[in-house]
Amino acid sequence: MSNYIGIDLGGTAVKLGIVNMKGEIVETVEVPTLAETNSADKIYRNISQAVGALLEKSGGDKIKGIGIGCPGSISPEEGTIVSGISNIPALNGFPLAREIEHDFKIPTFIDNDANNAARGEFLFGAGTGKKNFIMITLGTGIGGAIFINGDLYGGVNNYAGEVGHMIIIVNGLQCTCGSMGCWEAYGSATSMIKRAKALVERGIKTSLLKHYPDDINAKVIVKEAAAGDMAAKEIIISTGKYIGIGLANLINIFNPELCIVGGGVSLAGEILFKEILKYAQINTLPRAWDVVEIEQAKLGNKAGILGSAALAYMKMK
Ligand SMILES: [Zn+2]
Repeated sequence: MSNYIGIDLGGTAVKLGIVNMKGEIVETVEVPTLAETNSADKIYRNISQAVGALLEKSGGDKIKGIGIGCPGSISPEEGTIVSGISNIPALNGFPLAREIEHDFKIPTFIDNDANNAARGEFLFGAGTGKKNFIMITLGTGIGGAIFINGDLYGGVNNYAGEVGHMIIIVNGLQCTCGSMGCWEAYGSATSMIKRAKALVERGIKTSLLKHYPDDINAKVIVKEAAAGDMAAKEIIISTGKYIGIGLANLINIFNPELCIVGGGVSLAGEILFKEILKYAQINTLPRAWDVVEIEQAKLGNKAGILGSAALAYMKMK
């Protein structure tokens, strides 16, 4: 059986893995991204060497294809990172997939990491057996991917699924995109951190104080909430409310059979999902609500590698 390589290109690390068709990662290599060198050439050579090292570990097993996932806007046909990869600016415009394919003579594909996460869940995770689903990834922002009839919907220039910039509050909070009131300004990890800091600064009694200011993150907020901190719980509850409202909008538009909720914030578990379900149900039309399930993503921190491998598999089958 043929294996695939998945490459998860992040701002600080590049994680590579050989993935079999059972969705198991059988070998891995991890190297620093070298984003700080600000040199596309150095970053590329480093990635290329890591691919070489991984191929050596494969012990001659046939690698059928390579998939790459990274943030930003991607041109899959040209194998190029178009723009918006803010944490590795040197790679903007760089034909990463084409270069890897050229060097290793293995078909190579690239796409946005949120799209790949959905492909990974489709093949190996919560989306197996489902054809029409939405996946949202709750992290620094809110990423989204739309599956229609068993394939990812890319839109005219592979820019579909930017659900994080759906406006849910008119004249609302400032978003990084320049608009106001975007969903991700209310439902992302970044928004949770902002709210947590504001509570500490207002002098509210909370155990988040001991992490203030630099160590407050979504994980810490979830941990303190689980330990009984009321302020941390409130943050998760209000985040869940906004996530639920945004999901309701998506369910009303797409009538999916499943919504998969992934990313770091989704690990907040029960308290968060209770609110998500409550506000999604209140705001979804009954006929659409009757057929939709809302589930936590299953691939967790393997989503990057498995999703990228899933991209290669789906492009080649
Ligand atoms: Zn926005």
